Amino acid sequence: MEQRSQELFERAKRRIPGGVNSPVRAFQAVGRTPRFIASAHGDRILDVDQNEYIDYVCSWGPGILGHAYPRVIEKVQEACAQGLTFGAPTEKEVVLAELIAELMPSMQVSRLVNSGTEAVMSAIRAARGFTGRDKIIKFKGCYHGHSDGLLVKAGSAALTTSVPDSAGVPADFTKHTLVASYNDTESVKKLFEAYPQEIAAVIVEPVAANMGVVLPAQGFLSFLRDITRQYGALLIFDEVITGFRLGLGGAQAYYDIQPDLTTLGKIVGGGMPIGAYGGRSDIMQMISPVGPVYQAGTLSGNPIATTAGIETLNILKADPQIYTRLAEKSAQIAQAVKAAAGNRVTVNRIGSLMSIFFTKQPVTDYESAVSADTKQYAAFFGYLLDHGIYTAPSQFEAMFLSDAHTAQDLAKTCEVMTQYFRTFKE
Ligand code: PLP
Repeated sequence: MEQRSQELFERAKRRIPGGVNSPVRAFQAVGRTPRFIASAHGDRILDVDQNEYIDYVCSWGPGILGHAYPRVIEKVQEACAQGLTFGAPTEKEVVLAELIAELMPSMQVSRLVNSGTEAVMSAIRAARGFTGRDKIIKFKGCYHGHSDGLLVKAGSAALTTSVPDSAGVPADFTKHTLVASYNDTESVKKLFEAYPQEIAAVIVEPVAANMGVVLPAQGFLSFLRDITRQYGALLIFDEVITGFRLGLGGAQAYYDIQPDLTTLGKIVGGGMPIGAYGGRSDIMQMISPVGPVYQAGTLSGNPIATTAGIETLNILKADPQIYTRLAEKSAQIAQAVKAAAGNRVTVNRIGSLMSIFFTKQPVTDYESAVSADTKQYAAFFGYLLDHGIYTAPSQFEAMFLSDAHTAQDLAKTCEVMTQYFRTFKE
């Protein structure tokens, strides 16, 4: 039953573009009605028609502890009673910056913003200000938020020209965005050879999770570290998804590579809107008011988001075994899928991030990711939804696990997925 969701969706479409405040929520790619959510606790979300689902979206990553984690909620409620925002410094901002520096030592100095998009925009501005260079390299299939200069997937034409992905972005705004192929060192070398003195930074999702989950090939990240140093460019890790998810130290600790700048979002706000960027203190000294790179925000570092972030990070810090548990949980699902589906799908997994691609070929970059059959994914998604399991409504997103996923719910998930692959014919 989805009557109330359907009614709300119709109402929403009259007043909100596509009925949603972020496109993927519209379920367009899977041809179903989006569920309007009433509440969520632990690993379960409840929609307005009283359907309950085991949730593997986890608000697209922040929900590593599960929904409505009691200590986080309690502390946020206490903070709310003290005032929502002051537009003036607070102790909590200092505590969160210190915690970030402790858990992610490359982030000696950081600035809080309100979203991952803002974090990336600002980090790139810092990199350009610091190097005095304009161009950046990004990778096809990596998502870094919706700012103009980063909405570039690739020009079919060339490594050296870029066309915006979105209407409303002047081509002039993306002319400094160069696009390389993920896991393809040659494509990066060529760009540096073409613009040896002009590239300010390479920005990368150290584990790509926005074309589905795609792992970095062995040596790829260290190659990026080396080539950026060689050419005097900065290396920016976009850890909006991987930060505090692959481990307390994020992907940079996992792979033991130190970027110059890092961007964070999602978990660092414990479910409240937040982003952060930071890194080497000599670079961060470029930021206003100490330096010439301007960046500001009315609600930046607000006491509610910082409270949720601090509590979440402290809980993770006190219980690092959480990462082992998370990895075991996603491994359990991956194994069940592989056992049932055989080579009909490709499962990419790292820690608590996973994607089931409906393709037989290994998925290592954008081209292999988009070889996946999105119709088959949509059918799989619909079957899961109808059996009480809520996964990403798009083939090209990650499946997120939380510490709240219970053994019982994992077993149910494995059973439903196994059942699906037993009946699913190519
Ligand atoms: N960077 C990465 C790697 C992301 O996955 C996202 C969002 O999913 C962003 C940046 C943008 O973050 P936000 O949606 O908070 O603006």
